[in-house]
Amino acid sequence: MAMYRAGDWNDLDQIKVLGVQRELTDWYGKNHRKLPWRETSDPYYIWVSEVMLQQTRVDTVIPYFLNFIEKFPTMEDLAQAHEEEVLKAWEGLGYYSRVRNLQRGAKVVVEQYGGQVPKDLQEIKKIPGIGPYTAGAVLSIAYDQAVPAVDGNVMRVFSRLFCIEDDISEGKTRSEMEKIGRVVVPRENPSSFNQGLMELGALICTPTSPKCIACPVYGQCCAAQRGIQNELPIKKKKQAAKEVQLEVALVWNDDKVLIMKRPGDGLLASLWAFPSAVREEGWEPGSNIIAVLKEEYGIIVDDINYVFDAQHVFTHLKWNMEVYDCKLSSTVELDYPQIQWVTLDEIGNYAIPTAFMKVLRKIDGG
Ligand code: SF4
Repeated sequence: MAMYRAGDWNDLDQIKVLGVQRELTDWYGKNHRKLPWRETSDPYYIWVSEVMLQQTRVDTVIPYFLNFIEKFPTMEDLAQAHEEEVLKAWEGLGYYSRVRNLQRGAKVVVEQYGGQVPKDLQEIKKIPGIGPYTAGAVLSIAYDQAVPAVDGNVMRVFSRLFCIEDDISEGKTRSEMEKIGRVVVPRENPSSFNQGLMELGALICTPTSPKCIACPVYGQCCAAQRGIQNELPIKKKKQAAKEVQLEVALVWNDDKVLIMKRPGDGLLASLWAFPSAVREEGWEPGSNIIAVLKEEYGIIVDDINYVFDAQHVFTHLKWNMEVYDCKLSSTVELDYPQIQWVTLDEIGNYAIPTAFMKVLRKIDGG
């Protein structure tokens, strides 16, 4: 069976390509999961679902999707919503830059495209937050256009189907995969084909132990014929997440605790959190957070006690959080308006990222 190399995708065996198109489209039609975003061809809903599905499991996304479109049923609603409200609807999904870009994109669509997601590939890619994958997903699913939608799942399937041994974590491999996508996506029913590829990657051609016996494209699959499906795709090992010691302050003022809005850029931007400080080497435990409270927020505490640890892992970063109960001594007027004193019941009204929800749950004894 042929093994293909970068650049010769137009030479893909046409019989094999036709077989993959036919089998996959049929299989998708009969076997796909019923998911709320599959009940519609509204490009806005498809777009929202695709953004949510990046880095997040389908089961987790379903309630978030339903809640989000109930709160922001149209592109205009999302474009006009207060950022705080949008972040709150995303709370717990993580990767908040996704939703900020989504809202930024919705504003552009409303202001520059009359609220209609453009049907042209070059135009849609100009919208903030819409990269090649989302563009392909929206154009093919909502507008039935023959545009590929290549994400990590699809790259895995292509690697195996065509025995591609290039490292899929490299950018140049992704662009080669997109070239393959342009060759294999059919003009007829590209929506089902692209969704079939995604569904195959999610259910059958899974990262470990692919279920080749149940696979609709087994007959066309190079890796399965050679018995190397478990060796593909090639992906270089991820670097271990960098560990950071973080001191987190629970500053109490009677039954209220201090929360602050994080800066508008960087990690967890614009979300609400307990004050925190990175532990500097050589500093006494707890002294970093005391200094930050005073210098950045004008909060002076006179008694601080370690209460518990919590961890949170981001993609490339692990926070080891040491949490301190702090007793408020006095405040100094500083120009930092975005701090609030709230009861534990009131915290629920703010968009708090998962890392700090873990702290909150421990305070509540959860
Ligand atoms: S036959 Fe196996 S390796 Fe090939 S596409 Fe299907 S599940 Fe993946």
